[in-house]
Amino acid sequence: MLKVEGLNAGYGAVNILWDISFTLKDGEIIAILGSNGAGKTTMVRAVTGMLRPGSGSIVFNGEEMTKKNSRAILNSGIVQVPEGRQLFTDMTVLENLQMGAFNKETKAHFQDNLKKCYQWFPKLEERAKQAAGTLSGGEQQMVAVARALIGEPKLLILDEPSLGLAPNIVDDILHVASTLVKNDGISVLLVEQDITKALAAADRGYVIENGRIALEGTAAELQANEHVKKAYLGI
Ligand code: ATP
Repeated sequence: MLKVEGLNAGYGAVNILWDISFTLKDGEIIAILGSNGAGKTTMVRAVTGMLRPGSGSIVFNGEEMTKKNSRAILNSGIVQVPEGRQLFTDMTVLENLQMGAFNKETKAHFQDNLKKCYQWFPKLEERAKQAAGTLSGGEQQMVAVARALIGEPKLLILDEPSLGLAPNIVDDILHVASTLVKNDGISVLLVEQDITKALAAADRGYVIENGRIALEGTAAELQANEHVKKAYLGI
């Protein structure tokens, strides 16, 4: 479904990502792991067209994405929940969710998709008319996930969903993602610093260190890896 090969990207003259290659198959959850500043969000920006890569290729469902803009990439089904959620805090929950319907098709399906989102996250229906900025962090993350689902992703990118949230809320969000993968056949790219939670949810993972892929393997292989245990899990 997604094949990234030899990706180099950065900001101005500063290169951050070096020769990044990874694959994501249909119906798979992969975790992109790494500590603060490793380059995870830069990689997400390149995949979603918010940052033009210096070189390399990003192919999604057989289509070259590398030179497409973010709107075209969104239309092809790559939808992200950005790091830090980036909600419109003065707008209501419902208005934020409406922003997720970005094209004719998703606008036409909005009411049906909204119903599904309210089933996933009943709190959002209760809070529909409330300004998003007045919600708790966990509820705001639910709005961000629901807004992405309104966009009917084929590939859902979750950028650090655990940031600043209580563990049980993170579990809820990862449970929704896993269920969507099983029932609706979408794929998930999960970017996380919380390696334990990410590997519990993912099929496979890649560890990024200093902008390069340092390790890759199945979730079980990475959980058992001595470097991962020492450097990231403190065991
Ligand atoms: P975090 O977990 O903190 O989000 P990350 O792995 O997602 O970390 P990135 O945000 O991709 O890391 O940052 C990688 C490097 O790129 C860092 O050294 C960061 O300072 C730098 N960087 C990020 N955004 C910019 C920018 N807009 N301009 C210049 N440098 C940037």
